[in-house]
Amino acid sequence: MARVFNIQRGIYLLENEGIVEGVLTKVTMGGDGDYPNSWIEYGYVLKHYMLEFKGKTDINFKANKAIIESNGKPIHVFLKEGIDCNYAGIFDFDSFDESNDGSKWFILKKRSQEKVFSLNKYKTELEKNVQSALRFPKERRREIIACTNKIPVRKSAITQVFIRNPYIIAEVLLRAAGVCEFCNQTAPFLRAIDNTPFLEVHHKIPLANGGEDSLENTVAVCPNCHRKAHFG
Ligand SMILES: [Zn+2]
Ligand SMILES: [Zn+2]
Repeated sequence: MARVFNIQRGIYLLENEGIVEGVLTKVTMGGDGDYPNSWIEYGYVLKHYMLEFKGKTDINFKANKAIIESNGKPIHVFLKEGIDCNYAGIFDFDSFDESNDGSKWFILKKRSQEKVFSLNKYKTELEKNVQSALRFPKERRREIIACTNKIPVRKSAITQVFIRNPYIIAEVLLRAAGVCEFCNQTAPFLRAIDNTPFLEVHHKIPLANGGEDSLENTVAVCPNCHRKAHFG
């Protein structure tokens, strides 16, 4: 027997000879039901209610058991938000819990990427190399350019990002209403995609320095003010 999908409502078990090799789950976010799935840590730690059958939840239901016993086998998560359904990546089962009313859920954590090449380190190095290239005599610089491959090397890089709350960004953009909150000038152009004013949401205290992703710590600014805030 080949690989088959054993479909348990929103949870699909990828089976090979009856052995579960992986799980696909479609997770409906939010909604106004009693048990809305939610992010504990946005984009990373997911609270996913267990499969329910006739109003009853049991950790021994095949699909629930497959997740609890996944033990390193991939749990592919598809997020359904409104009418959109997007692949969110591979998650691992972390734990499960229940509340007094008998509802049960899994905690799933996004599997981290393999470390290959640090983007931040690369950017710092490039900056340093530009500084030293600026100090070279023109002829020497031209010589180096002449004997360097014009086709750039392509490389995969890893980077650490802060997973930002899209609702904060939306709220701050609406608050600014197209006017930079630093220089009070109108946004320099409209986004081609939707004709909204181009402003960027900036953190007054950088997230990297422990700043919050909150309405209080954010401003919508024009690209000039944004660059100045970071590099001025
Ligand atoms: Zn500005
Ligand atoms: Zn910024």
